[in-house]
Amino acid sequence: MIKKKIVMLGSFAVGKTSLVQRYVNSIFSEKYLTTIGVKIDQKIIKVSNAEVNLLLWDIHGEDDYQKIKPTYIMGSSGCFIILDGTRKATLDVGLKLIETVKQTAPNSSIIILINKSDLKEEWDISEDDIKNLKYKGYEVIETSAKANTEVEYAFKRITQLMLN
Ligand code: GDP
Ligand code: MG
Repeated sequence: MIKKKIVMLGSFAVGKTSLVQRYVNSIFSEKYLTTIGVKIDQKIIKVSNAEVNLLLWDIHGEDDYQKIKPTYIMGSSGCFIILDGTRKATLDVGLKLIETVKQTAPNSSIIILINKSDLKEEWDISEDDIKNLKYKGYEVIETSAKANTEVEYAFKRITQLMLN
């Protein structure tokens, strides 16, 4: 079976772990690579007749995006850049992380997730910011790990991009 590595990237508390756990929920096996501080969950997804084993890399424990090691991103087929819609500063962090991905894994497919869409009234990232990201060519999906909105779709979509 094809295996694809996807990494969860973003500032602290944007919902990286919550999105993986929401997506994987009961049907997962997990593995801890404690030496490099990474937790890897797996899920098999079927997309257009192909079965793909997704390896979902999430930083284990306290995360600091400035300390992300190249080995975390290297070998990835896809990267989610996760923002917290209620905190605009997470957008700046996300843009920096995109630059790191482009240097470290230039062929990795990137999707920006703006998480916490259940709190949309409190969003600090504006429609103009989102338009701007789309104008720059980024695919943007608004998700909620809490309300289970667009989570399945996000993983399906990144799998499609990775397979193309
Ligand atoms: P991480 O540091 O990026 O892994 O973030 P976590 O997954 O640990 O989530 C950080 C906090 O945000 C936790 O309190 C979560 O319960 C909360 N959270 C995560 N996703 C959502 C969401 O979609 N909506 C809301 N309202 N809270 C969320
Ligand atoms: Mg986490």
